[in-house]
Order: sequence, then structure tokens, then C-alpha cells
Amino acid sequence: MKDCLFCKIAGGEIKANCVYENDSVVAFRDINPQAPTHVLVIPRQHVATLNDLTAETGALVSEMFLAAKHIAAQDGIAQSGYRTVMNCNRDAGQSVFHIHLHVLGGRSMDWPPG
Ligand code: AMP
Repeated sequence: MKDCLFCKIAGGEIKANCVYENDSVVAFRDINPQAPTHVLVIPRQHVATLNDLTAETGALVSEMFLAAKHIAAQDGIAQSGYRTVMNCNRDAGQSVFHIHLHVLGGRSMDWPPG
């Protein structure tokens, strides 16, 4: 997608602090971290929101979680714990309309989230 920030990061047009990538996904540190580890995992393919996932693109979500698991091990938070979050639309606070999995860890977190 021409005007999508995360498509530009996936394509290398905009720089990000990349921590992991493969043929399906790219992961980079959030520019405004909410925890010592705060990484965003995105699919290379543009999907605007969780509502736009289809049977064809659904496998991307599995790739995103496998990447999250890898990143948690890489950052040394797999055993202490971490949270994965995907915000969808206004009430959840989605601000970038290219699906992304937040991977947060390195501190203890409250539940329910605000
Ligand atoms: P959400 O609010 O769930 O859509 O999350 C979007 C996330 O993208 C926020 O946590 C932002 O801090 C993060 N973000 C926005 N622009 C960038 C960027 N250029 N590089 C890294 N993270 C970004």
C-alpha cells in the first residue's frame, strides 16, 4: 500500500530498529516503548485491521506469533513473561492501519488493560 507507514518499513523505505525478519514478517522496536521490550511484528503483506483477515491471509497471524515467540527468547523474556496485543479499530486505540502484534515484556503488567 502506497501510503502505509508499515508497508514502507517492511519495504525498507523508512528505517526502523529491526530485530527479526523472514519472508512473511518484519519485527522492529516500537518508537514509543511502553515496556523494556516493546516490539511490533508486522506481516509484509498489507492487511489493514484484524477485521480484514481472510482465509487466505489468516496464516500470517500464525507467522506473527511464531516471530513473537522468537523475539521473546531473543530478548530474554520468554520465561519471565510477556504480553501480545493486536488493537483493532477505534475503541482499542489502533493508530496504524496495517496489522501489527505488540510484544511487550521486561516488567510486570496489570490486568485488565486500560
Ligand atoms: P497501535 O496504536 O496499536 O496502532 O500501535 C501503533 C504503534 O506504532 C504505536 O505503539 C507507535 O508508537 C508505533 N509506531 C508508530 N510509528 C512508528 C515507527 N516509525 N517506528 C516504530 N514504531 C512506530
